[in-house]
Amino acid sequence: MAPLVRVCAWCGDNRALPSATDARALDAAGLKSLAKRAAAEGRVTHGMCSDCVADTGGMPVEDLFMLTEHQADRLPFGLIEVDAHGTVLVYNRWEESLARRERSQVVGRNFFREVAPCTAVQEFEGVFRQLVGRGIPGREVLDFIFRFQHGETRVRISLTYMPQWERGFILVQEMK
Ligand SMILES: [Zn+2]
Repeated sequence: MAPLVRVCAWCGDNRALPSATDARALDAAGLKSLAKRAAAEGRVTHGMCSDCVADTGGMPVEDLFMLTEHQADRLPFGLIEVDAHGTVLVYNRWEESLARRERSQVVGRNFFREVAPCTAVQEFEGVFRQLVGRGIPGREVLDFIFRFQHGETRVRISLTYMPQWERGFILVQEMK
């Protein structure tokens, strides 16, 4: 059984294999094919590499699933965990502050339909549905404009989906 491959949700870096020895033994092409095979077999999980969290002063995140609510609330970007239908399970503090909504208003509701209807478009919800439909772990990054009642905000979005857990993550960074 090949190791579980960890892919950074922001940059897609997949060097973060469980064993550093495995990573050293493989060249870039080998890593790519290993990551591809692992994805096809559903053995991919999403975290955030040290490069992507470095400028925020945070610690690398090995697996988005491993975050406690307290840790999610300390992230310097938005994190929304959803199920396969887009129902919100986790909504962190950064996102509360960007959207000016409290988690009590959004958890249990459909993100695309009830929480952020501006995302119920092909380039956002459609991309998420494609990820879900593929049946293998996947990740997409897109630029988007959130249309809030209090104004528009340009954001970079990372969408990930892990079918083995029927869970997805929507990560949100504000673009200055
Ligand atoms: Zn990264």
